[in-house]
Parts: sequence; C-alpha cells; structure tokens
Amino acid sequence: KTLKLIDPTLVKDQCYVDGAWVGQPSIDVTNPATGAVIGRVPRFGVDETTAAVDAAAAAFKLWAAKTAKERSKLVRQWFERIRAHQDDLAMILTSEQGKPLAEAKGEIDYANSYVEFYAEEAKRIAGETLPSHRADARILVLRQPTGVVAAITPWNFPAAMITRKVAPALAAGCTVVLKPAGETPLTALALAELADRAGIPKGVFNVVTGSASEIGGVLTSHPAIRLVNFTGSTEVGKLLMRQASTTVKKMALELGGNAPFIVFDDADLDAAVEGAMISKFRNMGQTCVCANRIYAQAGIHDAFVKKLIAAVEKLKVGNGTDDGVTQGPLINDKAIEKVEEHLKDATSKGAKVALGGHRHSLGGSFYEPTVLTGATRTMQLAREETFGPIAAVFKFETEEEVIKAANDTEFGLAAYFYSRDIGRIFRVGEGLEYGMVGINSGVLSTELAPFGGVKESGNGREGSHHGIDEFVEKKYLLVAGL
Ligand code: ADP
Repeated sequence: KTLKLIDPTLVKDQCYVDGAWVGQPSIDVTNPATGAVIGRVPRFGVDETTAAVDAAAAAFKLWAAKTAKERSKLVRQWFERIRAHQDDLAMILTSEQGKPLAEAKGEIDYANSYVEFYAEEAKRIAGETLPSHRADARILVLRQPTGVVAAITPWNFPAAMITRKVAPALAAGCTVVLKPAGETPLTALALAELADRAGIPKGVFNVVTGSASEIGGVLTSHPAIRLVNFTGSTEVGKLLMRQASTTVKKMALELGGNAPFIVFDDADLDAAVEGAMISKFRNMGQTCVCANRIYAQAGIHDAFVKKLIAAVEKLKVGNGTDDGVTQGPLINDKAIEKVEEHLKDATSKGAKVALGGHRHSLGGSFYEPTVLTGATRTMQLAREETFGPIAAVFKFETEEEVIKAANDTEFGLAAYFYSRDIGRIFRVGEGLEYGMVGINSGVLSTELAPFGGVKESGNGREGSHHGIDEFVEKKYLLVAGL
C-alpha cells in the first residue's frame, strides 16, 4: 500500500494455490532501506503446502497433455504481461530487496528473458530414435515432463531465480509449487498474478509462503514431487538433499560459490577493473557469482589496486529508489554482521583496509564499499563467500600458483580471469574447476547459456536448451514384433 505503482493490484497479501488467492496475511515484509513494512503474506505450514502440491499434481495431467505449442503460447503470454508491468515489478523488487531501481529493472528484463526463451524452447523438446539391436524392433526415446516440481528460491534475485526454474518447467509440461524467500515474497506473488492473467491454468503454478522448514519438509517428502529445484545456501541445499533422499527425488541445486577473479600481468587493466566492479559490487556483493577473491599478479598488482580504489570511490550508497544510487542496503542485520566478521578476521591476520571498512553513516544495513589488500588463504573471506561489498585483493606470482589457489575451495560455481594471451586463456579456462568461467568479462549470466556449478556449488544447469534437461525424463520405448 505504501508503494507507488501504476497497478497496485500487483501487490498481493495471499498465496496463490490452484488458481485462487488463499490464506491470511500475517508475516510482515519490510523494506531493507527504510525498515518500513510494505506488505504481509500468509504463514503456510504442512497442511496448506500439502494442498498446494495436491493441486499441482491434479493439474499436471492436464498440463502435460497439452500440445507443446499450446504451452508455448501460454508461457509467451506470461512474458508479455511481465514486460507490460516491468516498472511496477522493479519497484516491488527494490522495495523488498534493496537493490538500486535500475538494477531491479535489469533483473526483471533478465528474468523475463528466460520466460521468452523457454516459451520458444517448449516447441523444441524433441525425442529421438536410436539404431536398434534387433531387426524386428525400433528404439524410441521420449522426453516426458518430470512431474510436479518444487522450486525454492533465495532473496538476492527475487524475480530471476523464479523464472529460471518456472519457465522451463512449464515449457516442459511440469507443474510447480514455488516457495520464494521469506524476505522477498511480493515479487513472486506478483509474477503469479501475471501468470494468472496470462491464462496459465489453475494448479500449474502455485506460490506458498510461510514456515521454511514446514514447507520444505512437505516439498521434499510428498510423493507427488519428482524434482526439488533449489537455489540458496549450501547448508540448506544439503539439508534438502538429505530430506529428499527418503523418496529418491531428483535434485537440481544451485548453491554457494567462492568466485576467484584473476588479473594477469598481460590483462587490459581498465577492462579488468570494470569487470571486477560489476562482478564484485553488483547487488551489493550479494550474488552467488560475485567475485569473492580477487587475485592480482605481482607485475600489475599496485596499478590494479589503485584503479580499483578510484572506481570504488565513485559508488553511491543509498536507498535504491533514489537517483544515482549504485549501492543499496544489505538484505538484513545478519548479512552485515557477516561482512563485519570477515573484515575483522582479515585485518587481524594482516589484511590492510585501503578504502571503506565500516558501516555506512546512513545506518541500518548500509555498508561502505570496501577494498582490502594483502588477503591470504588463511582468512575466512578466502574460505567462504562474504556476500557483501568487500573487494579483497590477493597478490600472486605465477599462473600455476593462482590456478591452484583458485581451485583450493569446496565450491565451484563461477570464476573469472583477465588475460590477452591465447595460450593462457585455454590453459586457465580448462584448469579452473568451476561450472562457469568468465574470460575478460565480469558478468556471464544470460538465458542463452547453461548456468550452474560443480563440487559443493551444486548440480544441474539453468538456461539454454540444457536448462530443459532437469524437467524431462527420458523414456525408452522398445517397439518390437515389427
Ligand atoms: P540465503 O542464505 O541466500 O538466504 P537460504 O538457503 O537460507 O539462502 O535460503 C534460500 C531459500 O531456502 C529461501 O527460500 C529459504 O526460505 C529457504 N529455506 C531455508 N531453510 C529451509 C528449510 N529448512 N527447508 C526448506 N527451505 C528452506
């Protein structure tokens, strides 16, 4: 009600189940920039979540039976409605999440690119015939929808993490029960409202809010759920995997990262600084692909740090809806405490604060964009993602040494490096144990490429034609007696 929107009916205070708005508004949603309550959502538990899964299971038969072209048209309708309301969606997103409005608009665009892509891809989910082992038989491979999908999403990308899962699921013929993050349910519910307006049939896409552990318990144990598709912390991902093991569900997990960002002596330094800025400070450092460890080679280290500080000094901290702001607040107190803890640990082990290093004078969960030098592998910030605006610079000497250091982590989501040497580009690109490597680029997310990790950063891929794989089962038909 406090939001200035063109279409205020996009702000929902109920859950969306079986095509209806249900539940009592009871949990406050707050704006991290101001602390103001901007909405309320229901507190669903076991029974309400079970009902949502049952609705999705009933809808599955009808949805899967539609032609690919019919599904494609409906998903395309969803895309059109999201596009028509992108300014309102961005305002809702910034108000509950904090990122600058321009970035929120970018996220809505990016989120919608998945809806568009998978509306198109729906028509291209082809099976195959294989050479047969018998003259009187043929081998067919069908790609059928997996079934009811549980989607559990985080707060750092309140729109994109949803569409990356829901769009390919719907395209493939799956139905979905989504549990968005407690911090950012309003964007999710607005997307559900637009799916409703697009004519997506009842029960195909359901959104539940409330108790994470109760909802998560149902989503990982209900027999109708065939795939648990989760983006969030490694800790919760492991918990969900354990819970889902009793009913042997498929898992698609996109978990934490600890991205190395390597600048070699032969790099284009200005480009490397530009890449480091976007990779490190986008979303206030709260993305799972944010540069967490910046490695600068000895020959350019000092020059790189100097340019980096000059760029960080230009960042403007404030309420994301104010003009020119590039850095909003962190999501909550816990987030800012982690940043402080990492900083304290690093400086106690010899790191130097080159810029920033304190809570911002704006108060709340605002933090100064910070540059640290002299980072080393024993520091906490080298082992786990800071998820905040600290650019920690490590100095290194050789290519071999930095590949080893970069891989010295249980995570394997995104890595980045800057080099103009073609041999090095292939050596390092192939040597990094990561699901994604940005070479001479600080951003690599696009709906056209497979996003995902290795090691404890998870499995499964989102985006491109590969993104359909999680949502289809290969069924082998042997047709004999021909
Ligand atoms: P983050 O650290 O990015 O907040 P979390 O893993 O805590 O990541 O949260 C990601 C998503 O997982 C959110 O939607 C959150 O509510 C949900 N979640 C947290 N704990 C559980 C749980 N026990 N079962 C199911 N979902 C959970």
